[in-house]
Amino acid sequence: SYPLVEIKNLKKYFPIKKGLMGKTVNHVKAVDGLDFTIFKGETLGLVGESGCGKSTTGRTILQLLKPTEGQVYYEGTNLAALKPKELRRLRRDFQMVFQDPYSSLDPRLTVDNVIAEPLVIHNLYPGKEKERRVHELLEIVGLNSSHAKRYAHEFSGGQRQRIGIARALALNPKLIVADEPVSALDVSVQSQVINLFQDLQEQFQLTYLFIAHDLSVVKHISDRVGVMYLGRMVELAEKKELFADPLHPYTKALLSAVPVPDPKAKKERIVLQGDVPSPVNPPEGCTFHPRCSACFDKCKTVKPEFKKVDNRYVACHLYD
Ligand code: SF4
Ligand code: MG
Repeated sequence: SYPLVEIKNLKKYFPIKKGLMGKTVNHVKAVDGLDFTIFKGETLGLVGESGCGKSTTGRTILQLLKPTEGQVYYEGTNLAALKPKELRRLRRDFQMVFQDPYSSLDPRLTVDNVIAEPLVIHNLYPGKEKERRVHELLEIVGLNSSHAKRYAHEFSGGQRQRIGIARALALNPKLIVADEPVSALDVSVQSQVINLFQDLQEQFQLTYLFIAHDLSVVKHISDRVGVMYLGRMVELAEKKELFADPLHPYTKALLSAVPVPDPKAKKERIVLQGDVPSPVNPPEGCTFHPRCSACFDKCKTVKPEFKKVDNRYVACHLYD
């Protein structure tokens, strides 16, 4: 497997303006320096509490948001250096599946038109071909042509997410950023949709960046897992290693909140102190230090680098 996407020092800041027409007074540092690679054919799970920058990371990688700093390379091409026309062509390769299947589908369109929209935009599958392609896509996601003329609101949450996935697949993408695609669904439906993601990955050699706020959701589907905190990645490891032996204190805390199937395998719940600090004025040094029980002097002033430790990456002074 080779690097499909390489992310270098990626930052996305949102300006905070004073007054309606006012000048910028500060920034929300939603993504604050990310370095990682997504390999062809893998599922990289991305987890962290809400507000840590996961969605912004996904959107910035796909260039739906313009990075404030840093680069995204797709198969070796720097996306920021492309002309709009070239980027538009490449866009077919990247798709997004959204968290909320209730609001992400246009309620005024029948399902066939929802799914066909990307085909129309990119001028692919003309005439009758389009209808054939839509029916094929419906079947790929476990629906059928009898669903084509109905509206999104006539479907259950799980079925709507299938429609969203069919739409994302329409242009034969290579990379799908799935932003909490099962968070709005009932637990019983979640595993069906996750299984569908896995089947599709195998069938179409897809690469996933799979975003979730909960480690238990990415446990099944991921090959590797990255843990984000306040716009940065604090640990990135093979799934098995991360779950068996988390290194970063934040990963340890998140993991301690995941229920274990065996009640005898008791583990200590690490309760995080306080709330996630504001991404406008993040703490000095290690941004996790106000909540970290292992914090020592250096942590309060020196920002830990995200660096390789054995087979993984971690940003913590305990491993200097
Ligand atoms: Fe805790 Fe220090 Fe490691 Fe930050 S660098 S996670 S404060 S031990
Ligand atoms: Mg989000």
